Amino acid sequence: MRIILIGPPGAGKGTQCQRLVEHLHVPHLSTGEMLRAAVRAGTPEGLLAADYIAQGQLVPDQIIVGMVTKRLAAEDCRSGCLLDGFPRTLPQAATLDDLLERQAMSVDGVIELAVPRDELVRRMIARKRADDNPEIFSNRIISFELQTAPLLDYYTRQGKLASIDGLGTADEIFERIKAALRTFSRGTHR
Ligand code: ADP
Repeated sequence: MRIILIGPPGAGKGTQCQRLVEHLHVPHLSTGEMLRAAVRAGTPEGLLAADYIAQGQLVPDQIIVGMVTKRLAAEDCRSGCLLDGFPRTLPQAATLDDLLERQAMSVDGVIELAVPRDELVRRMIARKRADDNPEIFSNRIISFELQTAPLLDYYTRQGKLASIDGLGTADEIFERIKAALRTFSRGTHR
C-alpha cells in the first residue's frame, strides 16, 4: 500500500507512523528526517535546507522532490511506502502523481490527522526540538495552513482522503487509522 499521512506540526504523525510501518510492513519515508540527516551529514541538499528548517519554512520543492524521487526509486519501495511530511505543497503532490503514474502506480489513500491549533501549541510546549520555539512553531503552523492544507481538497477530489480525529490516546488514534486503511483497501472512502 502507498499511504500519505498529513497533519499539522505536533499532530502526532511520528508516533502513528512508527505504528503504521510495522502494521503495513512498508518503508517509512519521512522528509523531515531525510532533511535532518542531510543537514547533519552536511550534504549539498542539507546545506541548502538548513536555514529554511531552522526558520520553520518549507524547503524549496526542487530539493525535496529530488530527494524523494531518489528514495522512491529504491527496491524496497516497490510494494508500497508510507509518506510522512511529503507532499506538503500542491506542486509536490502533482509531481508525486506524475512520478507514480509513470511507473503505473498510484497513492492508495491519504490520512489527515486533524488536531485543533490550541492543542498543537500545548503539545509543542511539552516537547522540545530545535525548530519548536513559539515563533518558529507558529511559522510551521502558518506554512501548514497556507501551503499544505490545500492538499486536503486535492485528495478529496481524488476520492482518497480520510480525515481522522487526532485527539485521544495513541492507541485510540491508531484504531481510527486502521479503520481508514480498511476503507482504502475496499475503495469505499469515496
Ligand atoms: P513537522 O511535521 O513536525 O513540521 P517535519 O519533521 O515533517 O516536521 O519537517 C521539519 C521541517 O523540514 C519542516 O518545517 C520543513 O522546513 C522541512 N520539510 C519537511 N518536509 C518538507 C517538504 N515536503 N517540503 C518542504 N519542506 C519540508
